[in-house]
Amino acid sequence: MLSRRSFIKMCASTFVSVSYAELLFQVPTSSGSGNRQIPVLVYHRVGYTTDNFTVTPERFTTDLETLQYYGYCAISLEQMQSFLEDRNIEMPDKPILITFDDGYLDNFENAYPILKKHNMIATFFIITDKLWTPDRLTPQRIVEMAEGGMSFGSHTVTHRRLGELTWEEIREELTISKAVLESVLGKTVTAIAYPQGSYNDNVITLAKNLGYTTGFTVREGICRKESPEFELRRIPIFKYDGGIRGVIANRGGI
Ligand SMILES: [Zn+2]
Repeated sequence: MLSRRSFIKMCASTFVSVSYAELLFQVPTSSGSGNRQIPVLVYHRVGYTTDNFTVTPERFTTDLETLQYYGYCAISLEQMQSFLEDRNIEMPDKPILITFDDGYLDNFENAYPILKKHNMIATFFIITDKLWTPDRLTPQRIVEMAEGGMSFGSHTVTHRRLGELTWEEIREELTISKAVLESVLGKTVTAIAYPQGSYNDNVITLAKNLGYTTGFTVREGICRKESPEFELRRIPIFKYDGGIRGVIANRGGI
């Protein structure tokens, strides 16, 4: 059985066939297990729809292969949360958290097989009112993906902007989405991604009171040792972006 420490350090992505010399030459400076910068990518859809939030399966494949080539290790939501609990904990040398917002069905049909093929993992934030609509993930798909190592968090019930709701409305969005997902997954759900990045102090206070430990925004940036756990920055990925490495550098500010 894995110790907690070896779990934390474990990398879900396989090493591609790059020689050590190539890695020394090409991988940006890393502080080894002391690396305390974690880029959190946010995708929405993988397919051929025309909106700006969709990347093609080919592009998603290229993104994953590029991340692997440069030594990035996809971590789970749980590994991320362990880091947030203990910022000195051992981590893979170049951790990265891949997230998806909105729970589209193409996350299962297109993204999941590509993630599996590359032995990588991701975290999916689900709008629970959409669970039974045709183009979204169903509870059955969510369970299947969870069994395959994927992680899940709340993206609220209705996808309204939390920062503009009343205290009671925020409470409902956080409570019901958490309960629904927990009943689907059979485990505690403690992470939320704020719809459209909207949050305020009431949202953070309620999230803490209701048992969440982690809140993701859409403010551009990278997670660092000092990042507040309810205001985690992410790196949005759009249809017309160039290479993933440049996107991380530009939007992550590294
Ligand atoms: Zn969303």
